Amino acid sequence: MPIPSRDELTALAHDALGRLGVTAPSGDHSQSSPVNGEVLSSLPYADAASVDDVVQRSQDAFRQWRKVPAPARGALVKRWAELLAEHKEDLATLVSLEVGKITSEARGEIQEMIDICDFAVGLSRQLYGRTMPSERPGHRLMETWHPLGVVGVISAFNFPAAVWSWNTAVALVCGDPVVWKPSELTPLTSLACAATLQQALEEQGAPADVSQVLIGGADVGEALVDHPGVALLSATGSTRMGRAVGPRVAGRFGRTLLELGGNNAAVVTGSADLDLTMRGIVFSAAGTAGQRCTTMRRVIAHRSVVDELSDRLAGAYERLPIGDPMADGTLVGPLIRRAAYDGMQGAIARATEEGGKVVTGGGRVLEDEAPDAFYVQPAIVRIETQSPVVAQETFAPLLYLLPYDDFEEAVALNNAVPHGLSSSVFTSDQAEAELFLSDEGSDCGIVNVNIGTSGAEIGGAFGGEKETGGGRESGSDAWRAYMRRATNTVNFSGELPLAQGVDFTV
Ligand code: NAD
Repeated sequence: MPIPSRDELTALAHDALGRLGVTAPSGDHSQSSPVNGEVLSSLPYADAASVDDVVQRSQDAFRQWRKVPAPARGALVKRWAELLAEHKEDLATLVSLEVGKITSEARGEIQEMIDICDFAVGLSRQLYGRTMPSERPGHRLMETWHPLGVVGVISAFNFPAAVWSWNTAVALVCGDPVVWKPSELTPLTSLACAATLQQALEEQGAPADVSQVLIGGADVGEALVDHPGVALLSATGSTRMGRAVGPRVAGRFGRTLLELGGNNAAVVTGSADLDLTMRGIVFSAAGTAGQRCTTMRRVIAHRSVVDELSDRLAGAYERLPIGDPMADGTLVGPLIRRAAYDGMQGAIARATEEGGKVVTGGGRVLEDEAPDAFYVQPAIVRIETQSPVVAQETFAPLLYLLPYDDFEEAVALNNAVPHGLSSSVFTSDQAEAELFLSDEGSDCGIVNVNIGTSGAEIGGAFGGEKETGGGRESGSDAWRAYMRRATNTVNFSGELPLAQGVDFTV
């Protein structure tokens, strides 16, 4: 299947943007498509100095938006979801063009936006506070939740649409405006997604500045990080970025929600159903060309099954169709850019020095057809110990396969990395599954049984521990990060009894 030309990709982007009613401004910051490595867009960047004005307009919008009842804010999000569904194909095309995701995964990303909108619509009638019994007669003690303020969202290239919507759908029903600094690698997807929300805001008569986008580089992100008017900074990206951002926001006593890197493992026990395990591993490790934060990067397999698993995985990897992500049948698209390819090659070389052996993959493919794009064969490296390179996140389809002898050792290996995002156990033994889920089990934010590490649903809270940053977004009670909690004591007794029996009679 030939790799599409620059003209073909430009026409696809042009048509999709046209149907979305978006005219991309022209400027000097070029961005290439990973599909063929050629320039797809050239846009102007915001500069850091413009961030103050944007945040001030967002604060003005906040003062209006917080007065709108939460269910009416939900009605806006409901309309937004309809528009996303209407434009699902065009938005998915832009995701494929800018990230290189295969069509079904790109559609899945837009579906995730629609799903979080549905969740947020329901949530708009469920922003519950609690009441507690007061120790004083004639008193009521309760909690109420209030809009927090401007939410700054910094997002990564690999989920250019969904991550913003996880934050935005929930922030909007909570009464907060959003200022978005998307990845500089995905500007067209960002403009298109933002246009769908702008249309919903316009139709519902809501303030336009409830949603603003700043196309720009890390300097623009930094200005958002440092701005005292940003109440919550939700940042998704590498641990390196989070290490820079976290202390700066903390330094001004702002709130952060950090969604950073992952080095996710599956433990495969001797009793695992290997057919199901194989399918779970191949999707999680090679899908999205290994470029999900939840991508499976390590398999820790019982010594009794590790050889069979290695052979069967190698067979499946060698059958993976690699190529144009928008062509029928492709399962593995390109890496985002040369740096990702170089990072993968460097990690394979280090793993070899550290005692690993390449079982399959790692080589570049389609180099003649697309010399500026980086298609690789997903790789498996067998290694006896969890050496330093295995403990790092390499953002590419590189899977390390390690043996273990007893289950406690496998759990310890799962946990012995700096990140704590996602983990799985494949087993038919209930005791092993329960132990993995228990207090003594996996230390990750996502802990699964008989399913891979990636592909989470929006209903649960998403995020991880340790160097993954500790944030939780999307479903469950993640909404609380977007609101201000007040504890209220109401006295209807006509007396003034003090708590803890304190006597202060004048
Ligand atoms: P990245 O860290 O290079 O960039 C992410 C975003 O941060 C971009 O918008 C970038 O402009 C901005 N940025 C970079 N430095 C900054 C700074 N000092 N101040 C403010 N903003 C700054 O990440 P990437 O390459 O786009 O994405 C891949 C990484 O993201 C991987 O590590 C992956 O695991 C992680 N990720 C995590 C999650 C999650 O939910 N935990 C989801 C997606 C991706």
